[in-house]
Amino acid sequence: MNAAPHFQRIALIGFGLIGGSIARGARAQGLVSEIVTTARSEKTRARVAELGIVDRVVATNAEAVRDADLVILCIPVGACGPVAAEIAPYLKKGAIVSDVGSVKGAIVRDMGPHIPDGVHFVPAHPVAGTEHSGPDSGFAELFINRWCILTPPEGTDAGAVNRLREFWAALGAKVEIMTPDHHDLVLAITSHLPHLIAYTIVGTADELAQVTSSEVIKFSAGGFRDFTRIAASDPTMWRDVFLSNKDAVLEMLGTFNEDLSKLTRAIRRGDGEALFEHFTRTRAIRRGIVEIGQDSAAPDFGRPHANLEKKAE
Ligand code: NAP
Repeated sequence: MNAAPHFQRIALIGFGLIGGSIARGARAQGLVSEIVTTARSEKTRARVAELGIVDRVVATNAEAVRDADLVILCIPVGACGPVAAEIAPYLKKGAIVSDVGSVKGAIVRDMGPHIPDGVHFVPAHPVAGTEHSGPDSGFAELFINRWCILTPPEGTDAGAVNRLREFWAALGAKVEIMTPDHHDLVLAITSHLPHLIAYTIVGTADELAQVTSSEVIKFSAGGFRDFTRIAASDPTMWRDVFLSNKDAVLEMLGTFNEDLSKLTRAIRRGDGEALFEHFTRTRAIRRGIVEIGQDSAAPDFGRPHANLEKKAE
């Protein structure tokens, strides 16, 4: 049996990987009576209507939020401020406005001033995703066992924070509350820097004149392949992440460069002990991630391996 609806009407502005996954999950769990959605382009709106997951697809952001009890902006971080200004006059009193942006300080700064009195603003970031985007990429299970971080500004109504917490928990997420600054620092090292490194290494390999690109692809299973998945992430989303979490990313990048210099020195000096000690420590971190259920223990991320066919005698 489905749980009682937590919200009468929710509005999803943006229907890509995250918006589409929220809609599918909320529908599957019976969390809402009505889902209204919109997207920037006619093409995406037409596709969402075709998918038949939501109750109504409307043409404008203003129309989407009318009478909604929960409004979630599922759009790139850089678009959130202007969209908040656009929808502000149409928000229902008592509604909760949230987002899913991967950066939180900039969201609070850009959206906060537009939220009218009597409307609750509870920013959120589901720490879950894939390298795919667009209306077909979402799935109901995306948030199961993943963290969703809420960063309500000081003084936010506790009841509203709780309702959003329950909503995310019902989608399968584990919910934690922290300040926007702390969120941005933690995510800078766990998500933003790894993406920057992947974007760099894939670009560098591509530019190497002495290694033909066909060889880069041919021998990619040596490690490069795992970076290419991350480096295939949406360019708009990641441009906005780096522009809006500049300080924390630069801070982490400074530490990263120092550590890279230490490893460079160890290689140059032939210091096998230093390299071994470092790699042992990082291997333990991987084991810790598997132990707390944030990834599978299957070798090579569970990729299927072909069977070795027995040669005829
Ligand atoms: P996506 O698949 O590219 O979808 C973005 C959606 O936003 C599209 O429907 C797009 O419409 C719409 N949109 C863009 N600008 C808009 C505007 N001004 N008004 C209305 N709709 C607009 O992106 P996503 O991966 O779902 O990411 C959305 C947000 O989730 C980002 O803020 C990102 O930081 C956050 N996030 C992403 C991940 C991840 O792994 N992808 C994980 C956690 C959080 P069109 O299709 O018509 O352009």
